[in-house]
Amino acid sequence: AQERYASIRHTPCVTDCGKTISLLMNAGLMADLPSLEGSGAEGVGLFRTELQFLIRNQMPKRTELVTLYKRVLDAAQDKRVVFRTLDIGSDKVLPYMKPQEEPNPALGWRAIRVGLDKPGVLRMQLQALLRAAAGKSLSVMFPFIAQYEEFTQARLEMDKAVAREERLGHELPTNIEIGAMLETPSLAFASKRFFEEVQFLSIGGNDLKQFFFAADRENERVRRRYDTLNVSFLTFLEGIVARCRESGTRLSFCGEDAGRPIEAMCLAAIGIDTLSMRPASIGPVKHLLMRTNIDEVKAVIDRARDAGDQSVRPAIMEYLRDRA
Ligand code: PEP
Ligand code: MG
Repeated sequence: AQERYASIRHTPCVTDCGKTISLLMNAGLMADLPSLEGSGAEGVGLFRTELQFLIRNQMPKRTELVTLYKRVLDAAQDKRVVFRTLDIGSDKVLPYMKPQEEPNPALGWRAIRVGLDKPGVLRMQLQALLRAAAGKSLSVMFPFIAQYEEFTQARLEMDKAVAREERLGHELPTNIEIGAMLETPSLAFASKRFFEEVQFLSIGGNDLKQFFFAADRENERVRRRYDTLNVSFLTFLEGIVARCRESGTRLSFCGEDAGRPIEAMCLAAIGIDTLSMRPASIGPVKHLLMRTNIDEVKAVIDRARDAGDQSVRPAIMEYLRDRA
């Protein structure tokens, strides 16, 4: 399928109305890395570090992690890689950690909550990332941040890890940027100060949508019930875009919807200019974006909302049909 889009692989993604959209890829395993070249991704917008932990039967050692992360950064050459710290719990259970009996794992002890309550693994991971990125740029984001304080606590762990490396006389990354995933509605309403302090935000649309609609992403009976192009959800996302603009915070979107061409087009239309997706989606998304006037798409979205539509999808499909 990637062959179909080979001719635009190295073409920057500029919409028909002249807006540049960055298309990045999601990754997590070494096997994903060759796709950086093959897909034409501008970088890795989400590196799910837990996948390396999930495929093992014991906790990896720090030195192993350093080697892994170095290989990732080497493969990316000078492209940006955003490492997300361990996101376990909920649907991702490590075989070598005591399983938690929780009534609602998706709402339970997961991701950064585990990282802050039991910081041993998070510390090891941050140290490994710092070592792997010595002399290079490092981007790290924390998953499932629901409130400002969790971000400041997680960032403090990074500060401590940096201080420790300095004490040990180890070379540090030339630049460290620290971001958060916006996956719970609460974070969209965090104080202005949070938006000013966080260096970048990435919307984890899979989780954000499940919490926004209170519809379990793992539950077949309800997970498709609410459309991503639902007016309420798009309006909510627009609010996040507005807050990020106000504070000058870089914003991206890295849930599965970023890789669906129609959804990606609407996300771009409401002002999300960086999308991270599975590598195979980059070609189709770029192809559609390059021939679309997203200002027109935005107008279609606004009209559908004003008309009282529940989802803007029918109006968008009609617009695309008429244009074809
Ligand atoms: C998300 O929630 O949208 C996301 C990108 O993270 P994950 O799918 O790994 O939970
Ligand atoms: Mg998530």
